[in-house]
Amino acid sequence: MDDEPLVQVSGLHKRYGAAHAVRGLNLTLQRGQILGLLGANGAGKTTTMAMLAGVLAPTCGSILIAGHDLAKHPLAAKASLGYLPEAAPLYPELSVDEFLRHCAILRGVPRAHVNAAVARSKLRCALTDTGKRLLGNLSKGYRQRVGIAQAIVHEPDLVILDEPTSGLDPAQLREIRSLIRELGAQHAVVLSTHLLPEAQHVCDQVQIIHQGELALSAP
Ligand code: ATP
Repeated sequence: MDDEPLVQVSGLHKRYGAAHAVRGLNLTLQRGQILGLLGANGAGKTTTMAMLAGVLAPTCGSILIAGHDLAKHPLAAKASLGYLPEAAPLYPELSVDEFLRHCAILRGVPRAHVNAAVARSKLRCALTDTGKRLLGNLSKGYRQRVGIAQAIVHEPDLVILDEPTSGLDPAQLREIRSLIRELGAQHAVVLSTHLLPEAQHVCDQVQIIHQGELALSAP
């Protein structure tokens, strides 16, 4: 059972009218792996990530997460994943603690465990001293850390990060890359990027997407 891939994607396809954003993508991810989807603007990365996270319905194809079919058993499949979209959905008027508590409750963490779950995700994302700060006042790097903290607050098996380092300065970039590597020790991670060095530094496995199709898989 433990040898079963955590994520199995077969024949994934997304069409918008006559345009094909994703065309027949297959991928497999084992627990403990960091997979990078690398591609130019418009290659289909965000579309793929949104389908993997269960927030966008594929035109066809199947996605199994921890053995659960995302289309047939969405609640069970989504319980095993956390998702940071390209634009982190943060409420600027909430503090870090308020926001993470809200996310933990939405993710089904039992009320008695919410404070512990928030403290744990803050610790892992180096946010322990920022709990009372308003999200709207944080730097971009800290906002990304909060975005990652909300994605792991319920301790999912799979963490999906869409362009997690986009717009960061070099110091923030290093911090977030090292955080992602640390996440890889406990979760499987899928991240998207258009930067080759990012994929090389952070990922165990890279799939290059071109015009919605897999162009190259390495190693
Ligand atoms: P970027 O790096 O610029 O975010 P991407 O690799 O994430 O690009 P997608 O956003 O997945 O690419 O887009 C893939 C293709 O699908 C593009 O041609 C885009 O214009 C198209 N597309 C995405 N969303 C829609 C939509 N809602 N309606 C129509 N076309 C769309």
